[in-house]
Amino acid sequence: MKIFYSETHRKHDPPFELFDGGLRVPYLENPDRMDRILNALRKTDWAEIHQPSDFGLDSILAVHDAEYIDFLASCWTEWLDSKPKDSSVFLPATFALRHHPQKPKSLLGRGGYYIMDLSACIVEGTYTAALVSANCALSAASSVVNGQSSAFALCRPPGHHAGKDYAGGYCFINNAAVAAHSLSVNGKVALLDIDYHCGNGTQDIFYERDDVLTISIHADPDFEYPSYFGFANERGKGNGFGFHHNFPLPKGTDDDSYLAALDQALELIQNFAPKFLVVSAGMDIYADDPLGTIKVTTEGIGEIGRRIASLNLPSVIVMEGGYNNEALGRNITSFLGKFK
Ligand SMILES: [Zn+2]
Repeated sequence: MKIFYSETHRKHDPPFELFDGGLRVPYLENPDRMDRILNALRKTDWAEIHQPSDFGLDSILAVHDAEYIDFLASCWTEWLDSKPKDSSVFLPATFALRHHPQKPKSLLGRGGYYIMDLSACIVEGTYTAALVSANCALSAASSVVNGQSSAFALCRPPGHHAGKDYAGGYCFINNAAVAAHSLSVNGKVALLDIDYHCGNGTQDIFYERDDVLTISIHADPDFEYPSYFGFANERGKGNGFGFHHNFPLPKGTDDDSYLAALDQALELIQNFAPKFLVVSAGMDIYADDPLGTIKVTTEGIGEIGRRIASLNLPSVIVMEGGYNNEALGRNITSFLGKFK
């Protein structure tokens, strides 16, 4: 299997994030995650690691708002120019409730307009790393269009919380959405998100489209981030009505209950009869993930991979979350090993 990966992700390494109540903690979405995964992949006899190609901005602007991408590109320089008292990260403290807000001119105002929470910290290398991460997904999509049965984009930063015009949850550019849109030029696409958290950004991007079926299986937003999206009654809008599905799960969901929800999702995908599949592969469904409450085992993750692979669709697998660094390597190889 071709794996697309770049060392550029190391440029995005925020020193902290803020938890509920204001607790400042080391950034959980850290470069060590990639090292653990690479170490495990290098021990297999099937992983071929490749550098991504550069596809330019057009594929990214096909799913993201241009002014939002401009904001990501210039944020850090503007932040330093504003001579902040603490320049370790850019983080706004005031957020736009998107009822009918006006877009402000100030940097902190735009930050609150384009960022949804306190875990999407921007540092000097964030934009560069986010672009290269999207190029890993585009490279994997390109290799599948060119005949590979599957490819893995080892993306960092992850992407599925980034909407058309906002960052959040460690995500800046929606890598899976960028890949799915690029594939959609060649036929219908199904995008299945198995990260522990709702893929709200992906939902936002494709909500009114009927050529990309989006399905997210995740912890119920009634108790889990991102809180405002991911409910079962969100089904799409306009032409896209019926082409989005959420499967909210309770705390403590085990392998069998998870697989029962997965089977329903796979049936929806089969009925849609897509030409390509994109999987947002978050490993925070793992039982011992520090951010998760779902109890899927490493063997369960392997079975999830086996059932998705049995769809026999050309598949682009995109790395999302997963924060038990010690277990990440064996979880991702357990999952990917079922695809060939
Ligand atoms: Zn997650």
